[in-house]
Amino acid sequence: MNGASLLAPIAQRLAGKVALITGGASGIGESTARLFAKHGAKVIITDIQDELGFSVCQDKSINGAISYVHCDVTSESDVQNAVNTAVSKHGKLDIMFNNAGYAGQGKANILAVEPEGYKRSFDVNVLGSFLGAKHAAKVMIPAKRGTILFTASCATQSHGLTSHIYTAAKHAVVGLTKNLCVELGQYGIRVNCISPHGVATPMLLKHMGIDEKKKAEEIISSSANLKGPVLEVGDLAEAALFLASEESKYVSGVNLVVDGGFSTTNAAFE
Ligand code: NAD
Repeated sequence: MNGASLLAPIAQRLAGKVALITGGASGIGESTARLFAKHGAKVIITDIQDELGFSVCQDKSINGAISYVHCDVTSESDVQNAVNTAVSKHGKLDIMFNNAGYAGQGKANILAVEPEGYKRSFDVNVLGSFLGAKHAAKVMIPAKRGTILFTASCATQSHGLTSHIYTAAKHAVVGLTKNLCVELGQYGIRVNCISPHGVATPMLLKHMGIDEKKKAEEIISSSANLKGPVLEVGDLAEAALFLASEESKYVSGVNLVVDGGFSTTNAAFE
């Protein structure tokens, strides 16, 4: 024994990779950024919450592997600048995770919604995802490799859970995933999305109109099919890690549903 740790080193599943994550200052994006960095990636996180974004980069345990760029995903110049920053800082872009989203508050009644009501949701969830994919593809097509990920929602599987505006927008994200998988496959680019069940992030608390994380988790768990575990942001980060890494090198066009079987449940099984 030479005094080295008895523990096997954690495999660096993204060693040498460069990733850009939108909505990376909080929740699923932040957790994914930390996990990707732990697995050897250089990560650029982008967001509109600058203070929070910069604070993620200060974490000493990630050793400067994460940097922050302001980027409103609804602005094409911001998205282009974020992709350019990744390439100028690290020389390439391997992974683009279009994760920023907007849920609004509560369920919107169709009779009360004006067309403008759709705008914010479709701008952030759909236009933002499209712009991220477009500017990543500009870099990935000539490189003939890359992975594009989106965050959709289990609202694409189980309907009536949330507002129809959010449900429709997230269906569009799955549509982007499927079409871009076909369009970009010829360049060696894989395109997938992740559909989480409820996870107690600031967005979900606001959507549910609840202040307390624990209370939100109790409500989510009581509706879950799978009893025992509580869905955490780290579980979505692990799903993103799988889809971003070589372990999934032949997986494309998939909507990876992380909902503990919720969307498969038709009836309670007593
Ligand atoms: P979160 O609030 O913790 O993080 C979302 C981040 O996106 C925030 O930091 C926010 O500032 C950022 N953002 C919002 N609008 C933006 C914009 N225009 N440009 C750039 N950044 C913007 O929430 P989260 O739950 O981690 O959300 C991440 C993704 O997961 C979203 O796409 C959301 O729709 C999706 N999702 C969440 C849940 C859930 O239960 N939390 C379930 C299904 C899907």
